[in-house]
Amino acid sequence: MKTEQTYWFVFYKDQVLMEQQADGYHIPCSQEPPVKAPIGSTVHYIGEMEGIPCKTYALHSPISGEEAPTRLMVGLRASYDELPFEEYYKAGKAFQILNWDQNTRYCPSCGVPTKQISDIGKKCPQCRQEFYPHISPAIIVRIEKGDSILMVRAKNFRGSYYGLVAGFLEAGETLEECVHREVMEETGLRIKNLKYFGSQPWPYPSGVMIGFTAEYESGEIKLQDEELSAGAFFSRDHLPEIPKKLSLARKLIDDWLGES
Ligand SMILES: [Zn+2]
Repeated sequence: MKTEQTYWFVFYKDQVLMEQQADGYHIPCSQEPPVKAPIGSTVHYIGEMEGIPCKTYALHSPISGEEAPTRLMVGLRASYDELPFEEYYKAGKAFQILNWDQNTRYCPSCGVPTKQISDIGKKCPQCRQEFYPHISPAIIVRIEKGDSILMVRAKNFRGSYYGLVAGFLEAGETLEECVHREVMEETGLRIKNLKYFGSQPWPYPSGVMIGFTAEYESGEIKLQDEELSAGAFFSRDHLPEIPKKLSLARKLIDDWLGES
């Protein structure tokens, strides 16, 4: 009889548990969970990977290297560098589900404990309100002008790299309106030929990035002081430091460079 294996996405805060195998780090895959789930915690089913069920739960304390030398807990962002992409991607989903679980224990209207009604649904037993994971959409746009693209340095960026204009969707706005508004607010520029590029879940903690390409239309760069510390059009020979591979910003830039 085939034994039932499970991929276990075990988190402590934003750190995911990885296991060292011959070909590098992986999400633990075994019959039993690699660590006991704390009493009272929910083990969530989050779909399958290569036909193998995936489950996730949160720990109250991290696992130390002394207990298990082949195991390592790293921040979700850093896990991108270690895990195969599919496992990193699924870990992002697990993290969002755990965050949702943590933030929907009680009904915000009644204050009573909610009940889980599906893998991604909870309900208040009193007012019947239902709670699903909230996802915050944000846009990001590559703006071309001749043979250069607009790159900006946000004040909240860690490190010294430049990125692309990006921002959160506001209530009542279309994605296209959001792109035009963000570009105008952050740089004072008008753009044209807005086209959809692609999207990417962004589990930090629960977003989705929607990427666009556009062309410069008119205006002089006037940076929004509160958010940006620098911004200019850069040609491919004079690009500043660009974002890491994991981001949609980088995909947009690589696509422009012809490297994707
Ligand atoms: Zn309620």
